[in-house]
Amino acid sequence: MNDCLFCKIVAGEIPSNKLYEDDLCYAFYDIDPQAPTHFLVVPKAHIPSVAGVDESNQATVGHIFTVIAKLAKELGLDSFRVVSNIGEQAGQSVFHLHFHVLSGRDMTWPPG
Ligand code: AMP
Ligand code: ZN
Repeated sequence: MNDCLFCKIVAGEIPSNKLYEDDLCYAFYDIDPQAPTHFLVVPKAHIPSVAGVDESNQATVGHIFTVIAKLAKELGLDSFRVVSNIGEQAGQSVFHLHFHVLSGRDMTWPPG
């Protein structure tokens, strides 16, 4: 998508602190970390949010979760939270599907 921040990060047009990349997804550290470890995993293909997940991209989304599990293991994260905000009221600010992975501090429930 032309004007999408995360499409530009995936394409290397905007720099990022890359953690992992493969054919389907890209992982990078959040620029404004909300926990000692805070990275994002995004599909390379533009999907606006979880609300845009369907039969055509479900394999990519499933793959992203295997990558999250692998990265968490590699980083030694014993406990972590995976979050995806959908829509402005839920806190979504970048409209390209992304999963936040947060770890390294006590977390509260329910989230604010
Ligand atoms: P959300 O608000 O759930 O849509 O999450 C978007 C996330 O992207 C926020 O946590 C931002 O800090 C993060 N973010 C915005 N711009 C960048 C960037 N250039 N590099 C890394 N993370 C970013
Ligand atoms: Zn995009």
